[in-house]
Parts: sequence; C-alpha cells; structure tokens
Amino acid sequence: MLHLNITSNPAGSILVIYTGGTLGMVYDRSADPAKTGQLLPFDFSQVIEKVPEIGRLDFDVSLITLEHIIDSSDVKPAVWARLAQVIEVHYDQFDSFVILHGTDTMAYTASALSFMLTNLGKPVILTGAQLPIGVARTDARENLLTALEIAADRQDGRPAVPEVCIYFNSLLLRGNRAKKRESVHFNAFHSENYPHLAMAGVRIEYNRPFIARQDMALPFSISTAVDDNVTILKLFPGITPAVVNAVLAIPGLRGVVLETFGAGNVPTDTWLADALRTAIASGIVIINVSQCEGGRVTQGQYQTSTRLQQIGVVSGADMTTEAAITKLMVLLGQELDTTAIARQLAQSMRGEMSS
Ligand code: ASP
Repeated sequence: MLHLNITSNPAGSILVIYTGGTLGMVYDRSADPAKTGQLLPFDFSQVIEKVPEIGRLDFDVSLITLEHIIDSSDVKPAVWARLAQVIEVHYDQFDSFVILHGTDTMAYTASALSFMLTNLGKPVILTGAQLPIGVARTDARENLLTALEIAADRQDGRPAVPEVCIYFNSLLLRGNRAKKRESVHFNAFHSENYPHLAMAGVRIEYNRPFIARQDMALPFSISTAVDDNVTILKLFPGITPAVVNAVLAIPGLRGVVLETFGAGNVPTDTWLADALRTAIASGIVIINVSQCEGGRVTQGQYQTSTRLQQIGVVSGADMTTEAAITKLMVLLGQELDTTAIARQLAQSMRGEMSS
C-alpha cells in the first residue's frame, strides 16, 4: 500500500483502489509506428507527480493497485469480487473508498458492488476520466480530487454519502442508477430515473433527501458469489423465433434480462410468448427492462405486455440494464430458489428501482 498523503491531524482516511482505465494511462511515445499514440497504463505510484494537489488535502490518502491493471472492457465478475474483498479487508481501517476505474463498464461495476456490499455505512465512490491524467486538458484531476473531497465529507458526524456512487463531471450519481451515455464529451454518465446525489460547483451541494440512510449498527458484510449463466436479449422489430429460441436454449442458462420496447412491450406473436413461457417453466428467470432510458416498465398497461405478466416475467420497473443484469447475477449466485429470486428481483435491494 502506498501512502500518497499523510497529514498530522487528518479529517479522515481514504483508500484509493486503482483498477485501470483511461485515467491512469499515458500515450505511447515509442518509435514503433504501429503503437505510437496508443494508450498504455502508467505506473500509478507516480500519481502524486501528476496531481500534486493531493498533497494539500487535509485527510490521509492511501493507494492500492489491483494485481492486473485493465481497460474496463476486460472487467469480469472476478474483478467485482476482488474489489468487494479489498473493501472488506480494509473496512475498519478507512473512512471511505475511491475506486479508479475505466468508464466503459463503470456502471456495471458500481451496480454489482452495490448488490455485493450489505449494510454499507461508508462511501464507495467510483471515478475515472475521458482523458489520461497527464494530458493538459484532462478531466481526471477534477474527477479524482472531487471524488476524494466527497468521500471525506461528513454530515452530523456521519459519512455524507454512505453508498456506492459514481462521481463524474460535477455530478455524483447513485451507482446502480447510472449509465455511460457519452464516449467523447466529458459528461460521460447520467442517471435518467433518479436525481443526482450531489453537484460539485464552487461548493458541493448534496441532494440529501435522495441519499440512502444507513443504520450504522448493522454489520457490514459482502457476498461475492455470482452466477454468470445469464444473458441480455434485446428485442427489435423482425426478431425471429430462431434467434429467441437459440438464446433461450443456451446450455445452463438461468436468467435473462429482456430488453423490451417502451413501457415493457413485446410483439404479440404467439411463438414469442410460448418460448418465454417454456423457458420460465424450465426454471429460467426473466426480467423485463425497457430499451428507453427514462420511464419504467408497466406490465399490463398494453395488451403487448399483459401476456408477459401472465406467464411470470418479472417487471424490472425503472431499473437500468446494468443494474438488472448484475442484480440477477448476484441473486442467482446466492442459490435461492427461483420463486425467491423472482420476488427479490422485483423489489428494491439498494435503491436501484422505484416502487
Ligand atoms: N476503455 C477505457 C476503459 O473503460 C475508457 C475509459 O476509461 O474512459 O477502461
């Protein structure tokens, strides 16, 4: 563990966990024309050279680097589990945690962690950047420094935000409500169905009514088992029985996130309802989320979704696909029976869906 900043009278202690992503990369300047300009991970122990402002913070900041530094497109459930374990091992030692992560799959990791961490009473804030930390116009410096400030903030003697969150480009979002929406501009994340938890301008303004309240007396624990026998099936006009049947026949399949139209609607073809009914009868859990970013699934509003309700498809309400697939994986990992999984999927576990 590297101590980036130790103050004599610290206002708190933060563990930064570095996983990779653009934030911590540098441009390859080698002579090899095939590589020049590619982004490569840099030795993050030198971060203090790139962000000397860390030295001016009035809280202790320590850094852990995961064993393998990766682009977040390579994140797998094992990385979520590793992050949960690092947080568990250091839970009593630190007041809060900041995870530096690539933006591409950050919303999946934030969602998965929210379900893996039970009775979280401390901030876990993921952040990253669209430009590497060494680049003059980088967004990494502001994202990192403000994430650290928010992680350290307290309200009435308690952590200001005891949740898994994403901080990016001035906004603090609930992690399991966030989506990456932008690959070029700095406003990479948004949360269409839940208000931001804080906005950082001259001051950091918290949106207190929307921040989770945690009973600090309850013991923190983690559950890292996940079942990856799941898939996402996105409908489109013209989807054929061959496609749907092939997906539902995947050997070992236990759960499906069905991405539907509008308020949870699907084509009324009998073959589709039959295929879904047969899959559910064989023990596959199916959850309905909308392809729309805003609004919610309301099964039963139209004839095109009433069928789904009748055959036992779970309504995902206003959950993101990222939250739905990770929640499904975590619940399936707990070896509950199918009815219990379907019941828990339909309820909010960590504020990921509105009732
Ligand atoms: N491909 C990078 C990643 O997700 C993009 C980023 O960090 O912004 O790791």
